[in-house]
Order: sequence, then C-alpha cells, then structure tokens
Amino acid sequence: EISKEEQLLEILETSFGHKSFKSDLQKCAISCVAKRRHDVYISMPTGSGKSLCFQLPGLLHKNKVTIVFSPLLALIKDQIDHLTKLKIEADSINSKMGSSDRNRVINDLKSIAPSIKFLYITPEQAATETFQNLLDSLVRYNKIAYIAVDEAHCVSEWGHDFRPDYLKLGKLREKYMKIPWIALTATASRQVVDDIAKQLKLKQPMAKFKTPSFRQNLFYDLVFKNSIQSDYDHIKHWAEKKLKDGGCGIIYCRTRDNVEKLAYNLTKIGLKTVAYHAGLKTAERNGAQEDWSSGKVKVISATNSFGMGVDKSNVRFVIHWDVPQNVAAYYQESGRAGRDGLQSFCRLYYSRDDVKSITFLIQQDINRSKNTSREKLGKRAMDNFTEMINYSERLRCRHKLFSDYFGDPAPECKDKCDACKSPEKLQKALDFFHKLGMD
Ligand code: ADP
Ligand code: MG
Ligand code: ZN
Repeated sequence: EISKEEQLLEILETSFGHKSFKSDLQKCAISCVAKRRHDVYISMPTGSGKSLCFQLPGLLHKNKVTIVFSPLLALIKDQIDHLTKLKIEADSINSKMGSSDRNRVINDLKSIAPSIKFLYITPEQAATETFQNLLDSLVRYNKIAYIAVDEAHCVSEWGHDFRPDYLKLGKLREKYMKIPWIALTATASRQVVDDIAKQLKLKQPMAKFKTPSFRQNLFYDLVFKNSIQSDYDHIKHWAEKKLKDGGCGIIYCRTRDNVEKLAYNLTKIGLKTVAYHAGLKTAERNGAQEDWSSGKVKVISATNSFGMGVDKSNVRFVIHWDVPQNVAAYYQESGRAGRDGLQSFCRLYYSRDDVKSITFLIQQDINRSKNTSREKLGKRAMDNFTEMINYSERLRCRHKLFSDYFGDPAPECKDKCDACKSPEKLQKALDFFHKLGMD
C-alpha cells in the first residue's frame, strides 16, 4: 500500500507533468486539502500554483466531481483549456452555452459514474434553479469531492473587485455542511480574510495556508522631497549605485506629466529612462516596455498602468516619485523589486504638496458622489490614503505597515528599512520635515 504522500506525488507527475511541488506551502496545502477534514483558506501570490491545490486532490477521489466557482467566463475558459490539454475532464455550465451543450454536462453529472472531474461555474449561475437541482442530486449521491471558490476576495466589499453574487455562496456552504470548501485568493488584507471566512461561512476551525507578506530582500526607505536639492541628480546618483551590478529599475509617478518629465530630465543628465503611460500610442508604449524588458534601457518611468504581466525578476529598485494612494497598491508596486531574491530597494519620495493634490482628488470624488455607496467608497479611499500619510510621517518600521495590513505577525526587520536601521537619522529628517511644515 502506498502512502498518501506518494499517491499525491504520483498524480502530480502523471496527471500534471510536474516533478515536484512549487513550494512547501503548495505541498502542505495540497496534503491538507486531500484529507478532506477542514475547510481550507489559501493565499499565495499570482502564479504560485493555487489551482493545483484543489485540482490535484480533486483527482484523488474516484467518481467525485469538484465544483469551482470563478468570477469570469474568460478565467473559466483558461482553466478548462488547461485541464483539457492535460486530458482531465473539465466543463462548465454557463449562460453562453447552448442548451444541448448544457444538457450534455448535466446528464453526465447525473449519471452513475460522471466523467467530468471539474465543473466551473460563475457565482451568478450558482443561484439558478438548474444548478440548485443539479447540486441537490450530486449531494444526494455523495458525488462531490470539494467546492472551491477561486478569487475568493470577490466576496468582500473591502476588496478591489467585489461581486455581490459571491455573497450567495455562503448559503450553499450552510446547506451542505459535509462537503469541504476551499477558498483561494492572491493577496488579501486582514479585513478581506475575515470577510471571506464570514461571508462564505467557512467551517471553523479552518486551515490557513498563506505566503508571508514580509520580503526580506527588500530594503524600504523614504526621502522627503523638501530635503533634497536637485530631484533628478538625487534619483540618478542613487539609481546608478543600485544598478552597478546589473539589473533594472522602475520609477512610478502618479501623472503622465510626471512620467514624461522624469524620463526626459533623467535621460538628459545621463540616466537613460523610457516613459510608459496609457496616454502613449500603443506602438510607443509597447516599444518602451520592449526596450526595458530586453535590457536596452535600464530604467522606466511609468504610471501604475505599468506592471500587470511584468515578470522581470532582476528589478533592483522601485521608486515611487509620488506617494501611492493605499497600502495595497504600494505593496504590490514596490513588490515588483527583487523577485529573484537578491537585495533590492524600494524608495518613496514624499511631499505635502503631493498629499494635498491626492487629498483634493479624493475629496472631489466624495463631493460629487451621487449615492451613498459611492460616497462610502470615497471615504474608504480617504481612510486608506491616511494610512499612507501616517506611514510616511512617523518613525515606524516600514515592513510593519505591510504585516499589519495583511494581518501577519510583526517581521524581524532589524535593518531592512530606514526606521529600523538608522532611527536617529530618520527622526532628524522627520523633525526637519515637520518643522518646515509649520512655516
Ligand atoms: P495562481 O492561481 O496561484 O495564480 P496557477 O494555478 O494559475 O497560479 O499556476 C501558475 C502556473 O504554475 C501554471 O502554469 C501551473 O501549471 C504552474 N504550476 C503549478 N504547480 C506547479 C508545480 N508544482 N510545478 C511546476 N509548475 C507548477
Ligand atoms: Mg488562480
Ligand atoms: Zn523595519
């Protein structure tokens, strides 16, 4: 008799073609899910292989199907295509299907030995009578291995893409208590994690598998703009030091105007920099990304539209020339540094003027909001921004901002941020900043 672990490894190789698990976390999550004893919450960054955490265990259970809730038909299609290539039966029931297709799927699932192993459903579909009937029948004959909720942060109003239909899933959790549930998401704040457990009514105690938010190889610091003489020289001097052993850098700006200005002026003084923002023609924009990706130009200045799908691992620094609007954005954008695990640097240039213009914009949004839910969103944006201001204007470990936000224990930073490495120096800079602010 082979052990469970060997069995999982065998399926990993024969069905999915992987030689090993991608991480210990993936391995532990999969073993836990395989036991079917607890509801499981999994939070790992995009690309770390979350899908396998229900797909692999899903294959363990003969004659059982795993139901997967996913927010978008496009995502559903990707996953089904991926599984189909691996010769694993996966299908969907959705509004875009013809009735004969839909009936084929339903008939298969109602048969004694269904061939479908994974059924992908949007949360909207979950509320239909067709699906409810199907689910009743599957449960009656004990044919469900798991119910997985992908992109589970969609259930939370605190998240960035709230989908009201996700809220209905909690009812299903209550109705069918015996089926183990798995909730998966890329990054979730403490509030969102709490919401996922609460709204999906996950059975407690649930098992949690979560990539720690602390990135040891990132050094965070902050420079007050009013403490430096020449903006461009300051950036150039610092950036060149960080790039002396190779690699590349990103400078994030809030406006297209700033992006252009930085690229122009840095290039003029000898630090070649390309500009990237949504206002450029497609060809120009692609050209900029291409030049940077290929290493032809080491530095790119960009608005936050740059980054999706950027997977360069040797980004040695990320500069924020303007203060980000919230902790989530700052974590995500600065986190593009050091994906290769090597020492990298994240620097924020901060000024009260920038704070004023962002505050103004958020306030304008609130004033113009025509209903209470928009107003609520605006106020939340203001609260989130206030968190960034506090971060910038107080003597406090930079990494702790993130661990608090994600609900992780305080990290052993020691000297991985300016506040921990040289608190006296930072205190002086803060005193100077606050004094100038009084004038
Ligand atoms: P996530 O949902 O966390 O963003 P995915 O589940 O889409 O990630 O997986 C990302 C990629 O990693 C996929 O191409 C998948 O095939 C691959 N992958 C997953 N697990 C492993 C593994 N153990 N070994 C190698 N590649 C893996
Ligand atoms: Mg995924
Ligand atoms: Zn610190």
